[in-house]
Amino acid sequence: MCGIIGYIGKKRAAPILFDSLKKLEYRGYDSVGIASINGDAEIEIKKGAGRIEAVNERMNFLSVNGSIGIGHTRWATHGGVEDKNAHPFLSCNGRFALVHNGILENYLELKEDLVKKGHTFTSDTDTEILVHLVEEEVKNNGEKDLVKIISDLTKIAKGAYTFLLLDAKDHIIYAFRKDSPIIIGIGEDELFASSDITSFLEHTNKVIILENNQLAVLKEKYTIYDTQTGKEVKQKITTIDWTTEQASKTGFPHFMLKEIFEEVEISKHSLEQDSLKLNGMIEVLSKAKKVFFLGSGTSFRACLLASIYFAKIAKKHFMPILGSEYKTYQNLVDKDTVIFAISQSGETADVLQGITLAKAKGARVVSLINVIGSTIMRESDQYLTLNSGPEIAVASTKAFISQVLILTLLAFGVADRLKEGREHLYEVVRKLESIMNQSDSIAMLSKDVLNKNDLYLIGRGVSFPIAMEGELKIKEIAYIHADALAGGELKHHTLALIEPGVTCIALVPNDDTKDDMINNIMQIKARGGEIIGISSEHLELFDHYIPIPKVHLEPLLMIPVLQLISYYLSVIRGNDPDFPRNLAKSVTVL
Ligand code: GLU
Repeated sequence: MCGIIGYIGKKRAAPILFDSLKKLEYRGYDSVGIASINGDAEIEIKKGAGRIEAVNERMNFLSVNGSIGIGHTRWATHGGVEDKNAHPFLSCNGRFALVHNGILENYLELKEDLVKKGHTFTSDTDTEILVHLVEEEVKNNGEKDLVKIISDLTKIAKGAYTFLLLDAKDHIIYAFRKDSPIIIGIGEDELFASSDITSFLEHTNKVIILENNQLAVLKEKYTIYDTQTGKEVKQKITTIDWTTEQASKTGFPHFMLKEIFEEVEISKHSLEQDSLKLNGMIEVLSKAKKVFFLGSGTSFRACLLASIYFAKIAKKHFMPILGSEYKTYQNLVDKDTVIFAISQSGETADVLQGITLAKAKGARVVSLINVIGSTIMRESDQYLTLNSGPEIAVASTKAFISQVLILTLLAFGVADRLKEGREHLYEVVRKLESIMNQSDSIAMLSKDVLNKNDLYLIGRGVSFPIAMEGELKIKEIAYIHADALAGGELKHHTLALIEPGVTCIALVPNDDTKDDMINNIMQIKARGGEIIGISSEHLELFDHYIPIPKVHLEPLLMIPVLQLISYYLSVIRGNDPDFPRNLAKSVTVL
């Protein structure tokens, strides 16, 4: 889940690495470090535990010389968050430095062996064994080809290990991909290697997305090898049309707020799907005997919402499954099954694991992703893209609304009512701006009324997964306990918790759930609970009211309202909404 960056060119590496690491900080922010070849063959490393700016104050990254280097932002899996466990790691002889994304499964056993052979370890991480392994193999094989040595690692090391290896003797960066992304950026007289395009986008938008088990050797030029065959491969250069502006805060205090406001524009792009691809997807879903939506976290909420709309609009029973629970349902999967994977990053590990298992059973895999070239995209028989632009904040906002819009469009498509669906969805998109215009009053309400230790959210029908997504966001970034439930469930348990002073957010759209929701609100009020109503109609029952415009698909307009509430609650409580504690954006570990 970490961020890695490598640079080789004519400029000083340190400022470029430092800048890129700031852009990668959303992927990992426990610790940070850089290594650069300083002088002829000496590697200088500066690293430490903490957020990048704080570590920089201690270390002064910019003082590192050299025009070839690597950097890392860590999201710890093995070894505590301590200076010594920050990447990069150096080989005993100082020739190699390495940064790693992933988990090495058999590291303890390999470490024991390397210690016996005289290697000294400086950290508790799994990562560090990789650099000693390379050093050991170089020692044993004389000055043998490093491509061969790195290729042979797959016979020794088990697990996921995408890494950059800096070689101070030959002035080369080796970029190896195993189970998480690495992208090569091709600039003028300079090359980059990173886990995320946005980290070098201001220098170049020409990229090569490495496949699993490919190794890029970066010097003045680049060469790519397939480590399974040992042969050189030619990979296509892709031009990315994301702008650098999309990847910066452009005046907003946080990426999250910027990305919520971007929904007004990007929602249009999400609905502008290539008609061939869209119709292809509609056809597959219409004909499929069984469809399972597969997603995790926020994307799972989109799966749940989609299953409700497919039932209501297209009269189809498509089942939502949590990525991590795929195995529970795998007996139902066969060659007549379509797995519909949903993931912003396209790298979500538990979803990917489900895809691999489903493919082995002959299932067809289709997907909805945001990141072009991502693993899930490449593993899919067909895919649609969200067209949301880069999403930097860890908490997903604009990608969620895009997922929901496209899935709803597909439900209308399967019902053979695509034109009508488009009209309803564009009506929603046109009204998004009016929600953003209320952000000040939502901020006030969050401060004065919602800043509690417990919050309840109730909704019915499609508003229930929207309430669940609100709950997730409030927990994720405001660190407030929240509980979403379908209104009808109140009487089965949660009413027991309602007493004066308890606050409930009620999602009351003007649809077939409204009358039942009013009953639920009365049950809460009868026990002294306080109601914040989100609705197109100002009901007397509401203690506080957040208006939304009257549209056909009204629940969808509640999404940004809940996102803004969670954002403001996070800021009011002194949290950094872009970097929630213990969480990372691209969840590439199981
Ligand atoms: N497993 C490694 C560690 O704990 C890498 C973690 C990461 O991907 O940031 O240091």
